[in-house]
Amino acid sequence: MAKIDNYNFAGKKAIVRVDFNVPLDENGHITDDTRIRGALPTLKKILADGGSLILMSHMGKPKGKVNMKYSLSQIREDVAKALGTDVKFVPDCMKAAEAAAELKPGEVLLLENLRFYPEEEGKPVGIDKEDPAYDAAKKEMKERQKEFAKTLASYADVYVNDAFGTAHRKHASTAVIADYFDNDSKMLGFLMEKEVQAVDNILKDIKRPFTAIMGGSKVSTKIGIIENLMNKVDNLILCGGMTYTFAKAQGGKIGQSIVEDDKLDLALDIIKQAKEKGVNLILGTDCVAADSFSNDAKTIICPANDIPDGWEGLDAGPETRKAFEAAIIPSKTILWNGPAGVFEFDNFTAGSRAIAEAIVKATENGAFSLVGGGDSVACVNKFGLADSVSYVSTGGGALLEAIEGKTLPGVAAVQ
Ligand code: AMP
Repeated sequence: MAKIDNYNFAGKKAIVRVDFNVPLDENGHITDDTRIRGALPTLKKILADGGSLILMSHMGKPKGKVNMKYSLSQIREDVAKALGTDVKFVPDCMKAAEAAAELKPGEVLLLENLRFYPEEEGKPVGIDKEDPAYDAAKKEMKERQKEFAKTLASYADVYVNDAFGTAHRKHASTAVIADYFDNDSKMLGFLMEKEVQAVDNILKDIKRPFTAIMGGSKVSTKIGIIENLMNKVDNLILCGGMTYTFAKAQGGKIGQSIVEDDKLDLALDIIKQAKEKGVNLILGTDCVAADSFSNDAKTIICPANDIPDGWEGLDAGPETRKAFEAAIIPSKTILWNGPAGVFEFDNFTAGSRAIAEAIVKATENGAFSLVGGGDSVACVNKFGLADSVSYVSTGGGALLEAIEGKTLPGVAAVQ
């Protein structure tokens, strides 16, 4: 595999898979440009070398159909501003051969949303998985996906994958396209390299104590990673909405709190596994309960396993926050994914803030801290602490799968 650092792009056309799936407001204006900024080191290196850029990305979930709500034309000006140069645009990613051929060194071409074509994701459309014809449709779509990837590849001399957010998907632009470049002409971008390195720091050569903090609304979506982390960590903090599934499983009263009734056995099993493996499992003992799901709700502090009827736990209580801090501050490796409360409401941010501030303290004391997954990243941004942790990952699902130890197709394809 080639390395971006010592590759000379002079005179080359580079097709770069970026993650420009940025959030837009109702007027199509970008509300957070982190992902564009994240790709800049790679893009600027290619231009500075005297290469030209063909940028490709998805945006949203147009499900294989043209939908201008997800048009990348909306962000063309922002990309141009970020790069400090004009950006040409092709409104159909399959009809870019001419525009690509005309590109001169230093020029930039942005392709329209790849997911306007079902071939990008490679899933058959309009047919149910149960349909007997599904397998044949899938096979046919995989063939079409290869053709789609081949066309994209034909625009360029070299392929760079810098889209960590989609690295866990085997899509045309993230993985299949790599088959059409030889080993010396495909590589990871700087952002991808940094992400892969950050995951390595967490998985290999772990400095202890290692504390993982998993939050968010549900235990069901995080079970794979929780079970995997159980074999690696010293402290496992489970917080946020899943607190109440654990409290109920152990016979607690949780009022109207969010709960997954079909995961009570799973919760008990996690507690058992932690005991067997000698993991210090930290669950919320008290909570901030609200009389409605709103920022202005009345609140009380009560035990997480004794919440009055009509009240719901929306944040970690003071005793719980102290327990979180006690585990996090002396840690030397820290992974945080998912908030400890409904942090979108300003009155329910205390638990997530306590975690973020404890991570910052640990980092100042020499810990390696990795924060990843949309909501925890939104938390550290909201608290202005993103620059005070070791690494903020741009990947949600991709990060979790990498930490689960799965091979990411987007990384494997170029290696
Ligand atoms: P997830 O998508 O599973 O990572 O969950 C993130 C969401 O969990 C955020 O939108 C939080 O508002 C939400 N969340 C965290 N704690 C709670 C809670 N106690 N009750 C309801 N939702 C919560």
